Amino acid sequence: MHASKSRLYLFLIWILLVLPDIGFTDHFIRVSLLGTGSPRMHPEKSGPAVLVEAGGSFLIFDAGRGVVLRLTQLNIPITQINSVFLTHLHADHIFALDDLWLTGWIYQRPIPLSIYGPEGTEAFVQGLRQAFSYDVSIRNRYSGLDKDLAQLIVHEITPGMVYSKNGVRVTAFTVSHAPVHPAYGYKVDFGNRSIVISGDTTYSENLVEHSRGVDLLIHEIFAAHPDWVEKNPRLQKIERYHTNPAQLVQVLHEAGPKLTVLTHMILVGIRENDLIQNLRSEYSGRIILGKDLMRLNVGSEIEVLPFNGSYK
Ligand SMILES: [Zn+2]
Ligand SMILES: [Zn+2]
Repeated sequence: MHASKSRLYLFLIWILLVLPDIGFTDHFIRVSLLGTGSPRMHPEKSGPAVLVEAGGSFLIFDAGRGVVLRLTQLNIPITQINSVFLTHLHADHIFALDDLWLTGWIYQRPIPLSIYGPEGTEAFVQGLRQAFSYDVSIRNRYSGLDKDLAQLIVHEITPGMVYSKNGVRVTAFTVSHAPVHPAYGYKVDFGNRSIVISGDTTYSENLVEHSRGVDLLIHEIFAAHPDWVEKNPRLQKIERYHTNPAQLVQVLHEAGPKLTVLTHMILVGIRENDLIQNLRSEYSGRIILGKDLMRLNVGSEIEVLPFNGSYK
């Protein structure tokens, strides 16, 4: 009897010791919306960019207009950023890749910047290298900045796991943004926490598959008043490769994320508050409008912190 009791105690101790390794401990991901805009110029909506902090890694998804300034507003040292994941090569998602690259180099990022992106990323990056070769060589010669650290390491990705470090896994999956092909969404897993970033897409079954039950879904939206769409063929084309409110509701019902945050909002003849009210009348899950510099602490609860100008 005594022997079996002590075996039970030993078993319980063993369970407690191995639990952290088999992923049952609680994990935490911090997400910062660096830019919630689109190609449209808006001082309060920088271009698309999301910062994900997990397991000691700082990962950036898309490098839209203003990304470096937004990092600065959050007091995130630019030298911490060494991995950027591009959803696709539309200009609004890559406008500030050069800023992220070279300002990080000038501030002495300790390793070269790695860029993960779709087919075509290498050609785009080769253009950047060429465009800035004069600056890189002159700073190298005059200021002694290490040329090797100005390299850009490109990973042209295919669907599947594209990054794995310190328990953080990034999975790329294709979404539907034709004629842009391929366009990716990304899922980040860290222990028992997961988030999905849609990138630009219309309704995508593949996105639904990858988003089932995630803690956080950061999803794009296009919402236009029907009268405007009817008389504007260009808007009709734009709507075809983005997600309209009815499609978003379908995605959310099917995927059931714990929290949905809207970003890359393209609204025509519709106000943000009306959009969110309409969505909430169709979908009872938790859904909010993303704002630049908003922070989302994804743990057993998801805490939403609007920026109040004092992050340190
Ligand atoms: Zn876009
Ligand atoms: Zn796009």
